[in-house]
Amino acid sequence: MKKILIVATGGTIASSAGSHGLTPTLTGEELVGYVPQVRDLCNFEIVQAMNIDSTNMQPNDWLRIADTIMAAYDDFDGFVILHGTDTMAYTAAALSYLIQDSPKPIVLTGSQQPMSNPFTDAKLNLYQSLLYACQDDSSDVSVVFDGRVIVGTRAHKQRTMSFNAFTSVNYPLPAIIRNDRVIRESHMGMSIEKDNPPRKESHLHSILRPRRPRVYHELDDHVVVLRLTPGLGPEVLDALFAEFDAVILEVFGIGGIPETDDAHFEKAILGWTSVGKYVVMTTQVSEEGLDLGVYEVGSTYLNRPRILLGGDMTTEALVAKTMWVLGQSNDPRKAAQLFYQPINHDRASDD
Ligand code: ASP
Repeated sequence: MKKILIVATGGTIASSAGSHGLTPTLTGEELVGYVPQVRDLCNFEIVQAMNIDSTNMQPNDWLRIADTIMAAYDDFDGFVILHGTDTMAYTAAALSYLIQDSPKPIVLTGSQQPMSNPFTDAKLNLYQSLLYACQDDSSDVSVVFDGRVIVGTRAHKQRTMSFNAFTSVNYPLPAIIRNDRVIRESHMGMSIEKDNPPRKESHLHSILRPRRPRVYHELDDHVVVLRLTPGLGPEVLDALFAEFDAVILEVFGIGGIPETDDAHFEKAILGWTSVGKYVVMTTQVSEEGLDLGVYEVGSTYLNRPRILLGGDMTTEALVAKTMWVLGQSNDPRKAAQLFYQPINHDRASDD
């Protein structure tokens, strides 16, 4: 039987009703007690890293979770993190950068309803996360939620109430899970009654893969996201200037940044990059990504040092990746090289 470390951090899954609303109270031990079937899946140990609403999750907490995993890495076959859904996509992305190319699966899950709710989604999410973490073919960081496996850098919380809370942005699901059967992407469309043998290429990949991941410990959390809206002027960039090392600009459409008498963004943007700060461009449209080369209102920003292009990445992954990149280097060439290198499928590799 595989040995899995369950890292409990709080979230709705662990919550009960307090006088001011839901708040995490249940421990990891108590949560697993609700799903006795997991004892047939694997051997496990539980560590309570924290017990918080993920609204309060900070970059330092990402580092603590990564440290918890790495301290136990050699002793376990996989890791399941019980986490609030609200910032799960950020944590999944952050762990993808902090623990890269992990041959062992690191799975995040949570629920839309508390474990103690009679109609909860927590039981199946916990069970299926452990099931996925026990599979020989599983590796790297992913979110398992509502029967879907989403690559850790591609998850986005799309719904506040429904059980299918997460979508995978600009990237296919590597697997789905029906009851207690994991159906890999290569087998989707085939009858789920058929057996699901491991893919040959996965075996090869796992043989060629280093046995330990690359691990990082530094993040620069002075990163802010700014969504452009009609009427917003570049003064907002000046107001953010002192506090942040990088701004992630969610621009219009495939790549539009206003340039009018009232909104002279170019000067403000180049003001950031000329003093060693970074501007990361992404789109506020939820699917298909950025291409600044299409319109004149974007093309000014192509091939500029310290202006980084988000391509088809999610904003959550851009936040975590920018923090990771700037935690490693402020040299514009090195930063660009780290930024554009695809990690855990976070961006299409042809940018
Ligand atoms: N506020 C909760 C959290 O993110 C929501 C959830 O877990 O579904 O911790």
